[in-house]
Amino acid sequence: MIMDKSLHLDNRLSLCADFVRKGVKVADIGTDHAYLPVWLCKNSTAVQAVAADINPKPLQRGKETVVKYNAENMVQLRLSNGLENIQPDEADDIIIAGMGGELISDILNAAPWVKNSRYHFILQPMTKAEALREYLYENGFEIEAEKAAEAEGKIYSVMSVYYTGNEKHNIGILKYYGRLSPKDSDCAKSYIAKAGTALLKKGKGILTSNCFSSDGKKYVDYGKQLTEYAESGAVPKNKPTVQEIYSFIDSFAPFDTALDYDNVGILVGDSNGLVQRVLVALDITPEVVAEAAKLKANLIVSHHPVIFKPVRQVKNTDVTYMLAQKDINAICAHTNLDLSLKGVNICMANALGLKDVTLDSEGIAVGNIEGKALNSRQFAQLVKEKLHCSGVRFTDIENKIKRVAVGGGACGEYIYLAKELGAEAFVTGEIKHNYILESHSINLTVVDAGHYRTEDVVVDFLVKELSARFKDTEFIKSKVFTDYIDYI
Ligand SMILES: [Zn+2]
Repeated sequence: MIMDKSLHLDNRLSLCADFVRKGVKVADIGTDHAYLPVWLCKNSTAVQAVAADINPKPLQRGKETVVKYNAENMVQLRLSNGLENIQPDEADDIIIAGMGGELISDILNAAPWVKNSRYHFILQPMTKAEALREYLYENGFEIEAEKAAEAEGKIYSVMSVYYTGNEKHNIGILKYYGRLSPKDSDCAKSYIAKAGTALLKKGKGILTSNCFSSDGKKYVDYGKQLTEYAESGAVPKNKPTVQEIYSFIDSFAPFDTALDYDNVGILVGDSNGLVQRVLVALDITPEVVAEAAKLKANLIVSHHPVIFKPVRQVKNTDVTYMLAQKDINAICAHTNLDLSLKGVNICMANALGLKDVTLDSEGIAVGNIEGKALNSRQFAQLVKEKLHCSGVRFTDIENKIKRVAVGGGACGEYIYLAKELGAEAFVTGEIKHNYILESHSINLTVVDAGHYRTEDVVVDFLVKELSARFKDTEFIKSKVFTDYIDYI
């Protein structure tokens, strides 16, 4: 084939052509003048092509190009609504260029056969590129590469796409830049900068009329991140919403399993708000709020509910007031976390090194000490070390301890259940005098390791789990919230 220099593609179509694989069959959907399929065939990139359009007029124009460049034996013209009249074996590379992002999504969606890794898509939206990217990610398509080109004073993106079946949801800011990198070209850099400016403007506009709007704040955040990306190359972070973090905790500690008296969930803030950084603490105290504000963390995940009793008044000395004032959200997971297989008591059993741990329906964990049985004092010593306590209270009864039940926090009344579960010892965080006496009579060693130490283990666990799930987000354990009890 002789290189035909007289057919010249503009930057936009030329970039599309660059992505087409060598020696393939091409389908060009919405072909207009059929420039691209003719060029690809005449330049030995494509072995054959179908130039399709929904309207006869563009096809007529296409025919003129085909005839002019003598490509009748390679390029077929076809009237087709999207991919409707294209046979699955007629194309390897499918080009859909020059239409809106939503229409491109609709065309792909209407042809289920394209969900196949053998096809390569070259997609070039004129508008709403973000809608197309969102469709692609959510439907198992992967944008393998993306570049930007300038044509007629506007900058367009061209995507090279394959189907992988790997669906990605909640892509957040990613839908505004996909695979574009400011390092790739000046065009890509300006595309990202422009997207940033537009989002900033949109966000600020919304916030002018409603300064609490989650969308307004989100667009401002995206706008800032994209501007920063264009300027310094700092890759944007896909920040989760408060709701997404809530849903993740809900997946292992369902909030609807919390006990009736409890109050759990998103107790303060905006479920649609973007999370910048997270502080994790057992309790939300004024000091913890100040710590979060200092760290620029706009979400606190805590174990104990920040609102427990019905609120009749909010004073400026109340923690809820402080949270609202600093624009900090709060998720509290209390008894639902106690009852969870990944909750407080399992964490404590693991911290104590217990084996074969199971969880009772009331949330008490039970397991066995590894190695030989311990007496009460030896066991209390073990608890002290493993839970990093400055001191513990325990009943020094004559006992051989092998099986241990644990109930963090105020769980003193569970001594009977502990006994029923076959335990020789029970570790809790608070126990009243009458239960201490009762434990004697049922020959159960009781170790009171303090409320804080028996529940602190879950904070480390939450930080670890949440960090693994939300890799772009920083989760920090509170440093100011520690044990308020000292031993002398
Ligand atoms: Zn507690």
